[in-house]
Amino acid sequence: MALIVQKYGGTSVGSVERIQAVAQRVCKTVKAGNSLVVVLSAMGKTTDGLVKLAYEISQNPNSREMDMLLSTGEQVSIALLSMALQELGQPAISLTGAQVGIVTEAEHTRARILHIETERIKRHLNQNKVVVIAGFQGITRTEELEITTLGRGGSDTSAVALAAALCSDFCEIYTDVPGILTTDPRLVPEAQLMDEITCNEMLELASLGAKVLHPRAVEIARNYGVPLVVRSSWTDDPGTWVISPKPRPRPLVNLEIARSVDDVEFDTNQAKVAMLRVPDKPGVAARLFGEIARQDVDVDLIIQSIHEGNTNDIAFTVMALILKQAEAVAAAIAPVLRSQKATENGEAEVMVQQNIAKVSIAGAGMIGRPGVAAKMFTTLAEAGVNIQMISTSEVKVSCVIDNADCDRAVASLRAAFEIEDERRTRGQGDKGTRGKLSPHPPLPPVRGVALDMKQARLAIRQVQDRPGTAAKLFGLLAQYNISVDMIIQSQRCHMINGVPTRDIAFTVARIDAQAAQKMLQQAAAKYGWGEVVLDSAIAKVSIVGAGMVGQPGIAATMFEALAQHQINIQMIATSEIKISCVVAQEEGVKALQVIHTAFGLAGNQSIQVPA
Ligand code: ADP
Ligand code: ASP
Ligand code: MG
Repeated sequence: MALIVQKYGGTSVGSVERIQAVAQRVCKTVKAGNSLVVVLSAMGKTTDGLVKLAYEISQNPNSREMDMLLSTGEQVSIALLSMALQELGQPAISLTGAQVGIVTEAEHTRARILHIETERIKRHLNQNKVVVIAGFQGITRTEELEITTLGRGGSDTSAVALAAALCSDFCEIYTDVPGILTTDPRLVPEAQLMDEITCNEMLELASLGAKVLHPRAVEIARNYGVPLVVRSSWTDDPGTWVISPKPRPRPLVNLEIARSVDDVEFDTNQAKVAMLRVPDKPGVAARLFGEIARQDVDVDLIIQSIHEGNTNDIAFTVMALILKQAEAVAAAIAPVLRSQKATENGEAEVMVQQNIAKVSIAGAGMIGRPGVAAKMFTTLAEAGVNIQMISTSEVKVSCVIDNADCDRAVASLRAAFEIEDERRTRGQGDKGTRGKLSPHPPLPPVRGVALDMKQARLAIRQVQDRPGTAAKLFGLLAQYNISVDMIIQSQRCHMINGVPTRDIAFTVARIDAQAAQKMLQQAAAKYGWGEVVLDSAIAKVSIVGAGMVGQPGIAATMFEALAQHQINIQMIATSEIKISCVVAQEEGVKALQVIHTAFGLAGNQSIQVPA
């Protein structure tokens, strides 16, 4: 007999008939000899409707009242399912987050779970009842017992957190698609179902816009080793398993806020190639990385900063050993770009830098917890280390620094994040070992493609290039709990009052963009930074795959697909298992479709998503 947590999403409980169908499935699972906790979302688009009502009353609704309002949706569905179960003769009881004791931070509309009291659930389970719990909501531990919500899509997180707290055998997420697909079938009906995906890949996809799982749910599954499967609530098909490595033991207190970094890594075997002033038009990145791929050169990090005038800078890192080869390719391409006469700020130029190192913190939920990257930057600043390039992702934040600073950087990061086990810290020439994530079977280079249409881009011009700048900037954003991705510092340097300055651009969720811009404008006035520019009309399209490590040509295929369709790339940022490009908002869907096709991910069957 197993203890199972099943979660049903909005469409799966969208009508009385659907709730009755869910009740049938629940009964069947109980009859097979299992104990069951069921977590529900609100019916259909109820939560959207509640949000709309709030905005009809206020342009800036109070977040406490918002939680009071939004938490009502789930209360309806749990009561109805409990009744439907009782009608089938199955004892059941519905409980709100407060009644269970799902204790969260007092952070309205985006609260993280601190711990879950399990006594009452266990008591009801022992009485052979199905316990039906409202997802997405919790309660603060303060005297006032305030209702909180976890953030949109948060019922997945409630379910996996309950599975972890109850030490359940597994957690099933029932939804309106057959499982996790290579991309959103609403945009690409030929998306293919996968049998399994690693938790790191799923963390990246979820945080890059694949709505099928809430990123924090994957984070908890990874951290506590909860077996997790996504399935259709319309069929009995097996769905997709999210595979987590054996976790290190961790307590169930501070469930979502404890220790997010579990390793510090470094690689002193890196070199950087930068191409300055390349034309800002479709096909340039494709041409450069296409040629690099033909030479079989494996590129690690790639960044393309936002344009200045009508040109961009592109920089990438390679293993030091192949720097000469990479430089030769870049140098051969530069005159071709130059002859296009697209540059008005000067000519394309290649710069190389040896003696650089990459230091990284690894874990889960890095983007979702803005304080983590900020702490890394502060730690490096305090150690007097200047950051040359930044790469962010849900599972890793890396900084490219001077080789001479590497030991100092690693030691201070280890101390700051309390990483004691030195044997886990990877050493020189790390690239080779990273390819051996899971030798059997080889992981596909691209597992999935995601589109995020809810992002905005902020750029700050002329920020001083010295230790502590990134710490100041991203520390401020973290104070406001604003998550940041795709952080890019321009390669070009302008001297202002004798101080070198660079532009820094990054993406944030669109709902945070205006608040971030306002706050940064104040900071800019205080610190003497330049203009703070906001562009909300962007789309971020990303590919994710653990198998892309050590495989030349993946970036080139992505950039070539965009170039062939005349889609201009505004920004590029990569981390080990993802590549993201910012394109114009109106080109987002097309970009997703052509990239999905370019990697041969389309199947020959169309996925039908229930309305
Ligand atoms: P639920 O209400 O069940 O939580 P969601 O709407 O939150 O459902 O998530 C399911 C939706 O996620 C699907 O209908 C699909 O449109 C979207 N989706 C986006 N990316 C993917 C993907 N890679 N695989 C499957 N579904 C995806
Ligand atoms: N009902 C909430 C929402 O729509 C939570 C969820 O469905 O996961 O965001
Ligand atoms: Mg959902």
